[in-house]
Amino acid sequence: MRYAIVSDIHANLEALRAVSKDIKAQRVDKIICLGDIVGYYPDPNNCTKLCRNSRFICIRGNHDDAALGICDIDDFNPIAQTALLWTAKELKQEYKDWLRELPEHLLVDDQFLAVHGSPWDPYAYIFSSGGALQAFSYLHNHHPSITLCFFGHTHQRALYTSEESAVEEIAEGTHYTLSNQGLFLINPGSVGQSRDGRPGASYIIYNSKGKEIEFRHVPYNIDLTMRKVAAAKLPLMLAERLSLGY
Ligand code: ZN
Repeated sequence: MRYAIVSDIHANLEALRAVSKDIKAQRVDKIICLGDIVGYYPDPNNCTKLCRNSRFICIRGNHDDAALGICDIDDFNPIAQTALLWTAKELKQEYKDWLRELPEHLLVDDQFLAVHGSPWDPYAYIFSSGGALQAFSYLHNHHPSITLCFFGHTHQRALYTSEESAVEEIAEGTHYTLSNQGLFLINPGSVGQSRDGRPGASYIIYNSKGKEIEFRHVPYNIDLTMRKVAAAKLPLMLAERLSLGY
């Protein structure tokens, strides 16, 4: 089975369209989305529609929850709050209803776990080997048959492995073959707001047959998204960071 794993779209339609086009050429069987479909950028309706109509298998992220009123907006920074209030007003009821029905996490084909932030809490960030170690311990206790978990939320590509009882972070490179030993925790990076220091959209192709991971990077029309941010009167800092990849 070939899967595309995408995360953190954040209502950036240009990025999502570019990634969708790239995924089509990759001939995948299923597309999994790790949450944060909306929040930050100016196309929450079109992005939710594309995910729904293209049969992305999605979970909710913290920005989706905040736009729906499921979690408190006070936990976000002021720029995110401004964008979330705008999103909550802009998002049509039919898309709110669709987003609200999405699960918080998913076990996909008994193959891997899909979570937004971490296996133990969708709002927690895994930024380090310490966080990964906590995740491995949680997986071991709560999902003993699962050796692979995809997560998002940090907007940074990452691959952690528990092999040889040490946790190792692998940040660079594009292709990996997962061994049959140990647990793996993998972040595809973000479609809509890269924080890898490289402008563009990131996602993963996972081939479960050979346990192969490919980190893909897709350029898109960042200028157009930046102009839309200004036209929507969203905070300009959200536009600027796209061109920096942070
Ligand atoms: Zn996010």
